[in-house]
Amino acid sequence: MTAPANPDKARRKPLVLGNWKMNGDVATAEQLLADLLQGERDSPEALAGVELGVFPPYPYIGLAAARLAGSRFSWGAQNVAHFGNGAYTGEVSAAMLRDLACTWVLIGHSERRALFAETNAQLAMKVELAIRDGLLPVVCVGESLAEREALMTESVLAAQIDALCGVLASADQRFVIAYEPVWAIGTGLTASPEQAQQVHAYIRSRLAAGKVPGATGVRILYGGSVKPSNAQALFGQPDVDGGLIGGASLIAADFLSICRAAAQRSIR
Ligand code: PEP
Repeated sequence: MTAPANPDKARRKPLVLGNWKMNGDVATAEQLLADLLQGERDSPEALAGVELGVFPPYPYIGLAAARLAGSRFSWGAQNVAHFGNGAYTGEVSAAMLRDLACTWVLIGHSERRALFAETNAQLAMKVELAIRDGLLPVVCVGESLAEREALMTESVLAAQIDALCGVLASADQRFVIAYEPVWAIGTGLTASPEQAQQVHAYIRSRLAAGKVPGATGVRILYGGSVKPSNAQALFGQPDVDGGLIGGASLIAADFLSICRAAAQRSIR
């Protein structure tokens, strides 16, 4: 048997996660979950070797847990409090998410950073609590269009990553990074596979520079207008280990098609 050209990539299991954001209602959530399960039943072999998950809005996580239990799909939350249980009206703790058998939690999505003014210090607290309570954080990083045009992509990412290296260093690889250029989220604009690869490689090197052990084994997802038509080219890049999917994750056929693309990714 010939060895794969990129053994590091070969040992990072591809991962595709769907961020439903604040969309849908009970009926549409039920339908989407049913359609995903049907897709799994229709062609289990096409999804073999990929890890899959969805992030429903908080009120539908219990529903997702009930429907997806025993399937290939895991589930998680789009946010978590930066405090443990206590007098924090309106917040949801990592321990509560663990009670709902969540595997994942999104931390630092650009919408949370921009619209809810989440700071790096709060994000570090969220990561620490998530790991403590048995969740796998999916840490989102990315630059705005103005920052990219000002050639600041690397410095912006460095600041976002460096702020978390301390907590990530003790996480024993129990986290995932999602590179989501803000200019590509929900805009229909996608980073080219080459742009994504360049930034993913930079993120990996920055984790290593920040003394995060095993950076070559950390999965780095790409997010930003991933569609069935561009998924395979993105996932084929050496440092792209799957995707965080927003809009397309609300359409079961599209999401399943993207999941299948991750299963077929070439090891380069
Ligand atoms: C997201 O919000 O995480 C995302 C990637 O959105 P979209 O796929 O719609 O660009």
